[in-house]
Amino acid sequence: MKVIKIMPRGFCFGVVSALKIAVNAAYDESLPRPIYILGNIVHNHFISEALNHIGLITVDDKQKTRHELLDLIDSGTVIFTAHGVSDDVIKKAHDKGLYLINATCKFVNKTNDYIKQKISKGYDVIYIGKKHHPEPEGALGINPKKIHLVENINDIKNLNINNQKITITNQTTMSYWDVENLANKIKELYPTAEFLNEICNATQVRQEAVLKKAIQADVTIVVGDPLSNNTNKLASISESKANTHSHLIESVEDIDPEWFKDAQTVAVTSGASTPTAITNEVIKFLEDFDYHDPSTYYRKSNLSYKEILNIK
Ligand code: SF4
Repeated sequence: MKVIKIMPRGFCFGVVSALKIAVNAAYDESLPRPIYILGNIVHNHFISEALNHIGLITVDDKQKTRHELLDLIDSGTVIFTAHGVSDDVIKKAHDKGLYLINATCKFVNKTNDYIKQKISKGYDVIYIGKKHHPEPEGALGINPKKIHLVENINDIKNLNINNQKITITNQTTMSYWDVENLANKIKELYPTAEFLNEICNATQVRQEAVLKKAIQADVTIVVGDPLSNNTNKLASISESKANTHSHLIESVEDIDPEWFKDAQTVAVTSGASTPTAITNEVIKFLEDFDYHDPSTYYRKSNLSYKEILNIK
């Protein structure tokens, strides 16, 4: 089958950096044990499992905030994930006597620094992001009264800000087009509002590549974890911008041969937190796949934790 390998795809700067920090911590015998990760280091459960294999314990519960998750840790080392945490969480971990390691991506820090600077100058901040995602949770934790989370048009209708000084910014991994659209709607309500688009470069170039290449395919396969925001956005951009039906899969084992019954060409991309080895397995399967030859349907992922954690 013809496969368009969309580039760039997969691991971004922030994920590589967070993984290096976590793996180095696992092998650093001077660090207090146990070593915990507060939430998933990046949103990919294969990576969390591989890190567990080398002795790092991921503490996660979708119903709990980072602040609440800290209640489950009483000793040792805690690693903060690439998505960032609020100062409040850092203080709580410090007060508990834990050894702290911060793997927050520098682009998330940049957005949070901008928010802090604007609040110190008397602004209210409208933050476009995904509810219950750790990155907005960290940003909102800066000042919950002055930061207003907006995910969709309905949230905009519910805004009630009485301040001439307003700035709009956003989670780094949203869809570029969704953010622009929501910011324009907000500006209709608050015409003097400033807007700083903080989609990170890694997210933006991956989204633009999907738009350009998915249009040439009959089907798009997006490899990544359903919890990963940037992965979900790649799938929705293929659908809504390139008009090419997409399937989000975690590994080659999720592929249904029936998806390609009438397809000649498939485009493949992967989220910024998807291990390269997993995407390579998917590409290899699709290149060998022939809908009319069921002997090409066999798909079994068999990767070692070392292959999952390989950042080259
Ligand atoms: S997607 Fe962007 S903000 Fe998120 S970790 Fe990667 S580089 Fe950093």
